[in-house]
Amino acid sequence: MNLRTLYKHYLSELTSIYPDSEAKTLVMWIFEAHLSVSRKDILNNSPIGIIPESLEKAFTRLIAGEPIQYVLGEAPFYGRFFHVAPGVLIPRNETEELVQLIVQKHKGKVKILDLGTGSGCIAITLALECAKAEVTAIDISDDALAIAKHNAETLNAKLNFVKKDILQADLQLGTFDLMVSNPPYVLERERSLMQKNVLEHEPQLALFVPDSDPLRFYKAIAKHARENLKSNGYLYFEINEAFGVEVVEQMKLEGFSDIQIYQDINGKDRIVYGKKTELDKSTKPE
Ligand code: GLN
Repeated sequence: MNLRTLYKHYLSELTSIYPDSEAKTLVMWIFEAHLSVSRKDILNNSPIGIIPESLEKAFTRLIAGEPIQYVLGEAPFYGRFFHVAPGVLIPRNETEELVQLIVQKHKGKVKILDLGTGSGCIAITLALECAKAEVTAIDISDDALAIAKHNAETLNAKLNFVKKDILQADLQLGTFDLMVSNPPYVLERERSLMQKNVLEHEPQLALFVPDSDPLRFYKAIAKHARENLKSNGYLYFEINEAFGVEVVEQMKLEGFSDIQIYQDINGKDRIVYGKKTELDKSTKPE
Protein backbone atom coordinates (compact mmCIF):
# COMPACT_ATOMS: atom_id res chain seq x y z
CA MET A 1 0.00 0.00 0.00
CA ASN A 2 1.21 3.51 -0.72
CA LEU A 3 0.08 6.85 0.68
CA ARG A 4 -1.71 8.09 -2.38
CA THR A 5 -3.87 4.97 -2.60
CA LEU A 6 -4.79 5.16 1.06
CA TYR A 7 -5.53 8.89 0.72
CA LYS A 8 -7.86 8.28 -2.21
CA HIS A 9 -9.62 5.45 -0.43
CA TYR A 10 -10.30 7.50 2.73
CA LEU A 11 -11.30 10.51 0.68
CA SER A 12 -13.83 8.65 -1.44
CA GLU A 13 -15.51 7.32 1.71
CA LEU A 14 -15.52 10.66 3.52
CA THR A 15 -17.04 12.57 0.60
CA SER A 16 -20.25 10.67 1.34
CA ILE A 17 -20.69 12.81 4.47
CA TYR A 18 -18.52 15.91 3.91
CA PRO A 19 -18.14 18.35 1.02
CA ASP A 20 -15.12 17.54 -1.14
CA SER A 21 -12.77 20.25 0.07
CA GLU A 22 -13.57 19.62 3.74
CA ALA A 23 -13.04 15.87 3.30
CA LYS A 24 -9.59 16.51 1.78
CA THR A 25 -8.57 18.63 4.76
CA LEU A 26 -9.85 16.06 7.25
CA VAL A 27 -7.92 13.20 5.63
CA MET A 28 -4.78 15.33 5.58
CA TRP A 29 -5.19 16.19 9.27
CA ILE A 30 -5.52 12.58 10.41
CA PHE A 31 -2.59 11.59 8.16
CA GLU A 32 -0.45 14.28 9.75
CA ALA A 33 -1.51 13.26 13.26
CA HIS A 34 -1.01 9.53 12.86
CA LEU A 35 1.58 9.09 10.13
CA SER A 36 3.71 12.19 10.62
CA VAL A 37 3.57 12.87 6.92
CA SER A 38 3.16 16.07 5.02
CA ARG A 39 1.31 16.77 1.82
CA LYS A 40 4.63 16.41 0.00
CA ASP A 41 4.98 12.79 1.10
CA ILE A 42 1.54 12.04 -0.22
CA LEU A 43 2.30 13.68 -3.53
CA ASN A 44 5.51 11.65 -3.64
CA ASN A 45 3.40 8.58 -3.17
CA SER A 46 5.66 7.15 -0.49
CA PRO A 47 5.00 3.57 0.49
CA ILE A 48 3.62 2.82 3.95
CA GLY A 49 4.16 -0.48 5.61
CA ILE A 50 1.38 -1.34 8.00
CA ILE A 51 -1.41 1.18 8.46
CA PRO A 52 -1.24 2.22 12.13
CA GLU A 53 -4.23 1.11 14.16
CA SER A 54 -4.60 4.65 15.54
CA LEU A 55 -5.08 5.99 12.00
CA GLU A 56 -7.73 3.41 11.21
CA LYS A 57 -9.50 4.24 14.45
CA ALA A 58 -9.41 7.96 13.68
CA PHE A 59 -10.86 7.28 10.25
CA THR A 60 -13.63 5.08 11.69
CA ARG A 61 -14.60 7.90 14.06
CA LEU A 62 -14.62 10.47 11.25
CA ILE A 63 -16.75 8.32 8.99
CA ALA A 64 -19.19 7.87 11.90
CA GLY A 65 -19.64 11.65 11.84
CA GLU A 66 -17.63 12.51 14.92
CA PRO A 67 -16.27 16.07 14.87
CA ILE A 68 -12.60 16.28 13.85
CA GLN A 69 -11.73 18.10 17.10
CA TYR A 70 -12.78 15.06 19.16
CA VAL A 71 -10.96 12.73 16.77
CA LEU A 72 -7.75 14.74 17.05
CA GLY A 73 -8.41 15.35 20.76
CA GLU A 74 -7.81 19.08 20.53
CA ALA A 75 -9.31 22.34 19.37
CA PRO A 76 -7.81 25.80 18.94
CA PHE A 77 -9.08 28.63 21.13
CA TYR A 78 -7.68 32.14 21.35
CA GLY A 79 -4.23 31.07 20.15
CA ARG A 80 -3.87 27.92 22.22
CA PHE A 81 -4.85 24.28 21.82
CA PHE A 82 -7.30 22.80 24.31
CA HIS A 83 -7.83 19.10 24.83
CA VAL A 84 -11.43 18.20 23.98
CA ALA A 85 -13.36 14.94 24.21
CA PRO A 86 -17.06 14.07 23.89
CA GLY A 87 -17.70 15.17 27.51
CA VAL A 88 -17.23 18.86 26.64
CA LEU A 89 -18.46 21.26 24.01
CA ILE A 90 -15.96 22.09 21.28
CA PRO A 91 -14.97 25.76 21.77
CA ARG A 92 -16.63 28.09 19.25
CA ASN A 93 -15.27 31.22 17.58
CA GLU A 94 -18.07 33.28 19.12
CA THR A 95 -16.74 32.41 22.56
CA GLU A 96 -13.33 33.79 21.58
CA GLU A 97 -15.10 37.09 21.00
CA LEU A 98 -16.54 36.93 24.52
CA VAL A 99 -13.07 36.35 25.96
CA GLN A 100 -11.58 39.13 23.86
CA LEU A 101 -14.15 41.62 25.09
CA ILE A 102 -13.32 40.79 28.72
CA VAL A 103 -9.55 40.84 28.15
CA GLN A 104 -9.82 44.31 26.56
CA LYS A 105 -12.00 45.77 29.29
CA HIS A 106 -10.61 44.25 32.48
CA LYS A 107 -6.88 44.63 32.81
CA GLY A 108 -6.42 45.13 36.55
CA LYS A 109 -6.64 42.75 39.48
CA VAL A 110 -9.94 40.97 39.01
CA LYS A 111 -11.53 38.01 40.73
CA ILE A 112 -13.43 36.00 38.13
CA LEU A 113 -16.02 33.19 38.26
CA ASP A 114 -16.75 31.15 35.11
CA LEU A 115 -20.02 29.23 35.39
CA GLY A 116 -20.30 26.03 33.32
CA THR A 117 -16.66 25.93 32.26
CA GLY A 118 -16.68 22.79 30.06
CA SER A 119 -13.19 22.42 28.55
CA GLY A 120 -12.13 25.44 30.62
CA CYS A 121 -11.44 27.49 27.50
CA ILE A 122 -12.92 30.74 28.88
CA ALA A 123 -11.55 30.46 32.42
CA ILE A 124 -8.06 29.28 31.44
CA THR A 125 -7.68 31.88 28.69
CA LEU A 126 -8.72 34.64 31.09
CA ALA A 127 -6.29 33.35 33.72
CA LEU A 128 -3.49 33.47 31.14
CA GLU A 129 -4.42 36.71 29.39
CA CYS A 130 -5.37 38.86 32.38
CA ALA A 131 -2.12 38.77 34.31
CA LYS A 132 -3.59 39.70 37.67
CA ALA A 133 -6.79 37.70 37.43
CA GLU A 134 -7.75 35.16 40.07
CA VAL A 135 -10.08 32.70 38.39
CA THR A 136 -12.52 30.10 39.72
CA ALA A 137 -14.41 27.82 37.36
CA ILE A 138 -17.38 25.60 38.11
CA ASP A 139 -19.13 22.80 36.27
CA ILE A 140 -21.65 20.12 37.20
CA SER A 141 -19.90 17.48 35.10
CA ASP A 142 -16.99 15.41 36.48
CA ASP A 143 -15.85 14.68 32.91
CA ALA A 144 -15.73 18.38 32.11
CA LEU A 145 -13.85 19.22 35.30
CA ALA A 146 -11.27 16.52 34.60
CA ILE A 147 -10.71 17.86 31.07
CA ALA A 148 -10.57 21.49 32.26
CA LYS A 149 -8.04 20.62 34.98
CA HIS A 150 -5.93 18.75 32.44
CA ASN A 151 -6.01 21.80 30.14
CA ALA A 152 -5.03 24.14 32.97
CA GLU A 153 -2.03 21.93 33.78
CA THR A 154 -0.90 21.59 30.19
CA LEU A 155 -1.24 25.32 29.56
CA ASN A 156 0.35 26.29 32.86
CA ALA A 157 -2.61 28.22 34.18
CA LYS A 158 -3.39 28.51 37.85
CA LEU A 159 -7.06 28.52 38.76
CA ASN A 160 -9.57 26.85 41.07
CA PHE A 161 -12.04 24.29 39.81
CA VAL A 162 -15.11 23.43 41.88
CA LYS A 163 -17.93 20.99 41.17
CA LYS A 164 -21.18 22.97 41.42
CA ASP A 165 -24.60 23.01 39.81
CA ILE A 166 -25.43 26.48 38.42
CA LEU A 167 -29.07 25.83 39.29
CA GLN A 168 -28.45 25.33 43.00
CA ALA A 169 -29.58 28.19 45.22
CA ASP A 170 -26.34 29.23 46.88
CA LEU A 171 -22.95 28.53 45.33
CA GLN A 172 -21.06 29.38 48.53
CA LEU A 173 -17.98 30.58 46.70
CA GLY A 174 -17.67 34.09 48.09
CA THR A 175 -17.68 37.31 46.10
CA PHE A 176 -16.27 38.17 42.68
CA ASP A 177 -15.52 41.20 40.50
CA LEU A 178 -16.63 39.51 37.31
CA MET A 179 -18.81 36.57 36.38
CA VAL A 180 -18.89 35.02 32.94
CA SER A 181 -20.89 32.19 31.44
CA ASN A 182 -21.61 30.45 28.18
CA PRO A 183 -24.46 28.33 29.53
CA PRO A 184 -26.68 25.90 27.60
CA TYR A 185 -28.92 28.02 25.39
CA VAL A 186 -30.08 26.00 22.40
CA LEU A 187 -33.83 25.30 22.46
CA GLU A 188 -35.14 21.79 21.95
CA ARG A 189 -37.12 23.10 18.98
CA GLU A 190 -33.88 24.31 17.37
CA ARG A 191 -32.58 20.74 17.10
CA SER A 192 -33.75 20.48 13.51
CA LEU A 193 -31.54 23.45 12.58
CA MET A 194 -28.39 21.91 13.96
CA GLN A 195 -25.70 19.93 12.21
CA LYS A 196 -25.81 16.18 12.66
CA ASN A 197 -22.25 15.95 14.01
CA VAL A 198 -23.06 18.50 16.73
CA LEU A 199 -26.37 16.86 17.65
CA GLU A 200 -25.07 13.33 17.73
CA HIS A 201 -21.71 13.87 19.37
CA GLU A 202 -21.57 16.97 21.55
CA PRO A 203 -22.89 16.83 25.13
CA GLN A 204 -26.60 17.55 25.29
CA LEU A 205 -26.16 18.74 28.86
CA ALA A 206 -24.01 21.64 27.65
CA LEU A 207 -26.26 22.62 24.76
CA PHE A 208 -29.97 22.36 25.42
CA VAL A 209 -32.64 24.08 27.44
CA PRO A 210 -36.36 23.26 27.38
CA ASP A 211 -38.51 25.34 25.00
CA SER A 212 -40.64 26.25 28.00
CA ASP A 213 -37.73 27.85 29.89
CA PRO A 214 -35.13 29.27 27.49
CA LEU A 215 -33.57 31.51 30.13
CA ARG A 216 -33.29 28.85 32.81
CA PHE A 217 -29.53 29.33 33.28
CA TYR A 218 -29.56 33.10 32.71
CA LYS A 219 -32.08 33.59 35.51
CA ALA A 220 -30.04 31.47 37.93
CA ILE A 221 -26.74 33.11 37.00
CA ALA A 222 -28.09 36.68 37.13
CA LYS A 223 -29.36 35.87 40.63
CA HIS A 224 -25.96 34.49 41.69
CA ALA A 225 -24.42 37.63 40.23
CA ARG A 226 -26.76 39.90 42.18
CA GLU A 227 -25.88 38.06 45.37
CA ASN A 228 -22.16 37.46 44.85
CA LEU A 229 -20.79 40.19 42.62
CA LYS A 230 -19.17 43.13 44.31
CA SER A 231 -20.69 46.57 43.65
CA ASN A 232 -19.74 47.72 40.16
CA GLY A 233 -18.86 44.12 39.30
CA TYR A 234 -19.56 42.84 35.78
CA LEU A 235 -21.60 39.96 34.38
CA TYR A 236 -20.88 38.64 30.87
CA PHE A 237 -23.04 36.15 29.01
CA GLU A 238 -22.82 34.38 25.70
CA ILE A 239 -26.39 34.15 24.43
CA ASN A 240 -28.71 32.56 21.92
CA GLU A 241 -29.04 35.22 19.21
CA ALA A 242 -32.85 35.10 19.55
CA PHE A 243 -32.90 36.16 23.22
CA GLY A 244 -30.86 39.35 23.52
CA VAL A 245 -33.75 41.52 24.70
CA GLU A 246 -34.97 38.90 27.18
CA VAL A 247 -31.50 38.49 28.72
CA VAL A 248 -31.20 42.27 29.04
CA GLU A 249 -34.58 42.36 30.82
CA GLN A 250 -33.51 39.58 33.17
CA MET A 251 -30.34 41.48 34.07
CA LYS A 252 -32.35 44.66 34.69
CA LEU A 253 -34.62 42.73 37.04
CA GLU A 254 -31.57 41.68 39.04
CA GLY A 255 -30.34 45.26 39.36
CA PHE A 256 -27.83 45.56 36.52
CA SER A 257 -27.20 48.74 34.56
CA ASP A 258 -25.15 49.85 31.52
CA ILE A 259 -26.32 46.65 29.83
CA GLN A 260 -25.03 46.13 26.30
CA ILE A 261 -25.82 43.66 23.56
CA TYR A 262 -22.73 42.87 21.48
CA GLN A 263 -22.91 41.34 18.03
CA ASP A 264 -20.49 38.66 16.91
CA ILE A 265 -18.49 38.79 13.69
CA ASN A 266 -21.50 37.35 11.86
CA GLY A 267 -23.71 40.23 12.98
CA LYS A 268 -25.71 38.08 15.45
CA ASP A 269 -26.57 39.21 18.98
CA ARG A 270 -24.12 37.01 20.88
CA ILE A 271 -22.93 38.64 24.06
CA VAL A 272 -24.76 40.56 26.76
CA TYR A 273 -22.92 42.25 29.58
CA GLY A 274 -23.67 44.74 32.29
CA LYS A 275 -22.61 46.23 35.56
CA LYS A 276 -24.05 45.52 38.97
CA THR A 277 -25.46 48.82 40.11
CA GLU A 278 -24.01 50.20 43.28
CA LEU A 279 -26.52 50.23 46.12
CA ASP A 280 -28.06 53.64 46.47
CA LYS A 281 -27.42 54.31 50.13
CA SER A 282 -30.16 56.94 50.42
CA THR A 283 -32.86 54.39 49.63
CA LYS A 284 -31.35 51.56 51.64
CA PRO A 285 -33.65 50.42 54.47
CA GLU A 286 -32.48 51.25 57.99
N1 GLN B 1 -23.00 28.07 20.22
C1 GLN B 1 -23.23 26.70 20.47
C2 GLN B 1 -23.89 26.05 19.26
O1 GLN B 1 -24.55 26.70 18.51
C3 GLN B 1 -24.12 26.51 21.68
C4 GLN B 1 -23.41 26.88 22.93
C5 GLN B 1 -24.30 26.84 24.11
O2 GLN B 1 -25.38 26.26 24.17
N2 GLN B 1 -23.87 27.51 25.09
O3 GLN B 1 -23.74 24.87 19.03
